[in-house]
Amino acid sequence: MKYTGTTFRPPFEANSLLLQVTTGCSHNKCSFCTMYRDTPFSVESMEQIEKDLAEARAFAPRARRVFLENGDPFALSAGKLEEIALKIHEYLPDVQTIAMYASINNIRGKTDEELVRLRGLGINELNVGLESGLDEALELMNKGYDSREALYELGRLRDAGMDYGANVIFGGAGPGRLRDNAAATAEILNRTTPYLIFTGTIHADPGCPLYDDIQSGRFIEPTIGEHIDEEELFLELLELDNCLYFGLHPSNVVRMQGWLPRDKEAMLYEVRQTRTRLARRLDERPVRYGEGAILL
Ligand code: SF4
Repeated sequence: MKYTGTTFRPPFEANSLLLQVTTGCSHNKCSFCTMYRDTPFSVESMEQIEKDLAEARAFAPRARRVFLENGDPFALSAGKLEEIALKIHEYLPDVQTIAMYASINNIRGKTDEELVRLRGLGINELNVGLESGLDEALELMNKGYDSREALYELGRLRDAGMDYGANVIFGGAGPGRLRDNAAATAEILNRTTPYLIFTGTIHADPGCPLYDDIQSGRFIEPTIGEHIDEEELFLELLELDNCLYFGLHPSNVVRMQGWLPRDKEAMLYEVRQTRTRLARRLDERPVRYGEGAILL
């Protein structure tokens, strides 16, 4: 299988067949992101995709789930995605779901009819880097859309029958706006009903604008206590059925996962217990290492 440059997948796609159809990310401008800074966006040739599928058929002929690489393959035109999906079904007839990273801007480029057609071909459970429902946070993170557009596009996706998983970043609006950030993000999720929420906290590695802003003091990271407060309020406000809350990213203060609504109270208990356990450190700003992991 061919993989070019840096390749990422969400942790919950560990058992999926990873098929590269693009390299890099078509946006590549989020202020906190260094994932594809050195990998220009390009589209893989159908010839190579077919070669990879032939190889995949030899070692995983009964594969049921494919995750398309890389940063936002949903940027491809509906026609191209249809061509890829048909090829996948030709080589791997047991595939039920074709998932991938997608952005709000990618959805905007597809008509309602195209979304329905793609869903019919098994394209589903898109992993959308929504990050926040608060305009100031979206602007700070340079996501390229506002909350109104995100709500509209996610609504169209859901109307087409597609499920989506939302990535959420606590602290994206900076300290002082954590309650607004939690409330606005919970509201957009409650209205667009993701099947999964993948949480993390705002952090940056060298090589992205946010890193420079943190170093120069233009952006102040929230404290450990503020991250806990934001997650508590966010969880309290979520009203979702059958949604996996995946909070195991190393950048989180509280690392936990559970199903909503079943485990909501247990997770809130975990958040409050963490506040008690870290009582002396709540005013500290996180000290981080690889992948934004917080030294606790
Ligand atoms: S966060 Fe996602 S959309 Fe933003 S630059 Fe990184 S890969 Fe691209």
